[in-house]
Amino acid sequence: PAVQAPARKTKKKLSAGGGGYVLEDVPHLKDYLPHLPSYPNPLQNHPAYSVVKQYFVNPGDTVSKKIVVHESSARGTHFRRAGPRQRVYFQPGEVVAAIVTCGGLCPGLNTVIRELVCGLHDMYGVGSVVGIEGGYKGFYARNTVELTPRSVNGIHKRGGTVLRASRGGQDTAKVVDSIQDRGINQVYIIGGDGTQKGAAQVHEEVQRRGLKCAVVGVPKTIDNDIAVIDKSFGFDTAVEEAQRAIDAAHVEAESAENGIGVVKLMGRNSGFIAMHATLASRDVDCCLIPESPFYLEGKDGLLEFCEKRLRENGHMVIVVAEGAGQDLIAKGMHRADTHDASGNRHLLDVGLWLSQKIKEHFKKKTNLPITLKYIDPTYMIRAVPSNASDNVYCTLLAHSAVHGAMAGYTGFIVAPVNGRHAYIPFYRITEKQNKVVITDRMWARVLCSTNQPCFLSHEDVEKARQDEEEPHVPLIEGENSLVRTS
Ligand code: ATP
Ligand code: MG
Repeated sequence: PAVQAPARKTKKKLSAGGGGYVLEDVPHLKDYLPHLPSYPNPLQNHPAYSVVKQYFVNPGDTVSKKIVVHESSARGTHFRRAGPRQRVYFQPGEVVAAIVTCGGLCPGLNTVIRELVCGLHDMYGVGSVVGIEGGYKGFYARNTVELTPRSVNGIHKRGGTVLRASRGGQDTAKVVDSIQDRGINQVYIIGGDGTQKGAAQVHEEVQRRGLKCAVVGVPKTIDNDIAVIDKSFGFDTAVEEAQRAIDAAHVEAESAENGIGVVKLMGRNSGFIAMHATLASRDVDCCLIPESPFYLEGKDGLLEFCEKRLRENGHMVIVVAEGAGQDLIAKGMHRADTHDASGNRHLLDVGLWLSQKIKEHFKKKTNLPITLKYIDPTYMIRAVPSNASDNVYCTLLAHSAVHGAMAGYTGFIVAPVNGRHAYIPFYRITEKQNKVVITDRMWARVLCSTNQPCFLSHEDVEKARQDEEEPHVPLIEGENSLVRTS
């Protein structure tokens, strides 16, 4: 039966102590199926859970978005804490779970798939899990594969996704028809910003049709560009793998006369990989990211800096995020934008362009002959299996997702906020992107460690401050978290 969907945004204003705070809550199946029965969580019979009751999460627990708050503004945003509940809304035998991966590759996809399957099976005794092959379109192309702990054993040691992924438009109604036809009642959707927008639509349609089906998103973005959350899976691995490319560029640069190594790293709109790889490596002389505009010519321009570094040091390494300098490259070019199947704009190759500009510049300087090597490790980085820390992270993500769906929550993505896993409504992460905040001290650390020109004008700083989600109040000397810097 068709049931009226409740309002999509479920903000609740609550008060605690003296101040008030907002709980940005996620929907629950009970919101539109009020008479849904609940059952004791099978984990209550688990030898550990039966003794240590605090392994269960109190349904009233929330996670605060900000740890450091000034006493004058002790309010803020909270999210529902993730974890197993004492009561669940699915019986193990009743669950038919589906897993799908969409978008580009990212280290850790297979680990999430494996841990969803094993988590459902080992913790809740769920026996029916299917993998939808080839992204959203696989729902109605009827490409499915049965997933069991046995069939997913060892896949976390491989890169890529065993379910294959795809880009491109999907028909939400047809996806939900397929969910309904096959009796799927838990859908786990692993993918980036585009995928989660699609997941929100699937959830709305499921809810509109009044289906008992939990729709859960596991955010995937190697660029770490998802808002609110601490970091996304695969990011750690990407930074680690990027080191190898930077090392290679450094070796090349050091071994030539006036050697310049240019490394292009992932980061369409957010320069987190470039920033962290730069900070980790210490061999980088200049880091260019989309958030911080730069220029080539003139005083304190990039070319002048290159000259200075070569004269001082004899070699240099430049790291550039793929989305950096796009406006600069496009200037003077008469070229219409092109897009991929999902509608993402194709970027111009900033690495090639930069290498060309540097070569042209030094050609004129006959007393400074250079040797430039350009490395683009993108597809090598995306394809590696996740490292140890990402494997642990993916495992926790998958398990939190399973606990949430079993407890009846739906229409949410799972991720850590300030180190605690939380259930976050879709709209919260799809409406805004996570960016490097160039007015934050993390970017200052990069500028200090490389000694590169800051390229920023007072107007740029003012604009950046206006873009900050919650402007930094420089009252207290507080440390921001390492990855999420707003
Ligand atoms: P990444 O960009 O990190 O590789 P992504 O999830 O953003 O991952 P996309 O190729 O943009 O990758 O999208 C993946 C899937 O999500 C595609 O099937 C696409 O049709 C769908 N999708 C993308 N954007 C939207 C949107 N705005 N609304 C609904 N569905 C979308
Ligand atoms: Mg995307």
